[in-house]
Amino acid sequence: MEHVTAFAAVPETVRAFGFFIDGTWRDAAERETMVRRSPAFGRDVTSVALCTRADVDEAVAAARKAFRARSWAGIGGADRAAVLLGVARIIRQRAEELAFWETLETGKPISQSRAEIADAAGHYEYCAGIAQSLSGEAFNTHGDDMFGVVTREPVGVVGLINPWNFPFIVLAERLPYILASGNSVVVKPSEMTSATTLMFADLLKEAGLPDGVYNVVTGTGPVVGQAIAEHRDVDMISFTGSTRTGEAVLKASASNFKKASLELGGKNPQIVFADADLDDAADGVAFGLCFNAGQCCVSGSRLIVEETVAERFQALVLDKLSRIRIGDCLDPETQLGAIVSDQQCEKILGYVKLGEEEGATVACGGNTVAVSGGRFIAPTLLTGVRNDMRVAREEIFGPVLCMITFSTAGEALEIANDSPYGLGASIWTKDIDKALRAMRGVQAGRTWVNTTIAGGPGQPVGGFKQSGIGREGGRMGVEEYTEVKSVHIAIGKRKHWVT
Ligand code: NAD
Repeated sequence: MEHVTAFAAVPETVRAFGFFIDGTWRDAAERETMVRRSPAFGRDVTSVALCTRADVDEAVAAARKAFRARSWAGIGGADRAAVLLGVARIIRQRAEELAFWETLETGKPISQSRAEIADAAGHYEYCAGIAQSLSGEAFNTHGDDMFGVVTREPVGVVGLINPWNFPFIVLAERLPYILASGNSVVVKPSEMTSATTLMFADLLKEAGLPDGVYNVVTGTGPVVGQAIAEHRDVDMISFTGSTRTGEAVLKASASNFKKASLELGGKNPQIVFADADLDDAADGVAFGLCFNAGQCCVSGSRLIVEETVAERFQALVLDKLSRIRIGDCLDPETQLGAIVSDQQCEKILGYVKLGEEEGATVACGGNTVAVSGGRFIAPTLLTGVRNDMRVAREEIFGPVLCMITFSTAGEALEIANDSPYGLGASIWTKDIDKALRAMRGVQAGRTWVNTTIAGGPGQPVGGFKQSGIGREGGRMGVEEYTEVKSVHIAIGKRKHWVT
């Protein structure tokens, strides 16, 4: 296959990107640029423009112009569906190229990038269906002289600010849902991982998306992200990132009382009961920890295991963690990817040290691994953790698992819910009653039973507590980006008030 050969090695030269407004590419020109060094290979791979507030103004104006022109909002849902299906088809055709650049910038294993690109196509296909079936309500119950309808309409211009850990799939979990009802969008990808969001502009254009509907401005959070969040002509902000930045975005969005959807951090429990299939649970725990090298909002970073099986389960987890393949991220066999930045690496290792200071034991890992010139951290298990330790409360965002034990189901839930976050939770048991009670009791927007990090386009995702506001995905994900209008229509001659 020709495309496999073409994307098999790290390129010799840095790929420089401009930014994309109103259907045309702009050069970085006199703006500063930022070079991205691949975390998996230690080589410079891309460079992006550090856009300015004026660039954001221009992008928002283009999005507004397209929205007013109704080139997208004004066409039928079936026509929007045709474009979204075309987008999915082109994603599949260019999957290898997209996966390659995703791996270079993020440091995730190529097998994972390929899976994420394929999943992304599924979101565009799913939203093609909703673009055609989105509807409101009719009220034929108001009596003979009144009829009521509730309609949904696109909110207008959406500002979309994304993180570095899943650039293309996070975009896919939001963009088609935004586009389905007819909105225009200004996207700011993370400054570290902008490539696939930028490349996507050409794919959307090829599929027939009208100019001005998708605009990309690159650059830093405090300049470009802040400008989008504050912008008075942006109707809604969709932010995915850390809880701390989410707070700043929410404050900035008050400038014009934008609608806001926030997908934030997590410290997600893996509750393992003694009656679980412990082999399956150990495998799930290892996957939940090491997927995306633990740099995942729903990473299963708190292992809450029943005391009576704790020792046996620890041995099973250690065995799994010792056999995870760390290596060249372009090798399809590699399972554990790189850490996104030096700063993130220091932060993770700092937490391991903190855990020891707090009284935990490093049962495995806690060290860096040098492969292919990249920056990796070995899967790490901290045992003897209490839920009041900082390592158990704060999002480490690396492959560091904190093991805590419990003696009753009630205590397990208490520990699981004693967290400022409420994003994901996994429950491992073969007792259906126990599973249902735990599922009901746990405070998490996404809950898995005997599995972890499963998902797809149909079901909504989002967080309880400080893990976010609103839901992405599913029908709710499209509705999130609409305004609701309640309409009363009088039938016949009015009964006069002034007589
Ligand atoms: P981050 O908060 O540092 O950055 C996210 C985005 O916000 C980036 O594009 C950044 O440039 C921008 N930004 C930074 N400061 C800003 C400001 N003042 N105003 C506006 N924008 C600003 O997060 P990150 O480090 O890129 O990503 C990791 C975090 O994202 C983790 O906390 C993770 O849990 C979370 N996350 C959540 C989900 C979810 O669905 N809940 C998904 C992926 C990641």
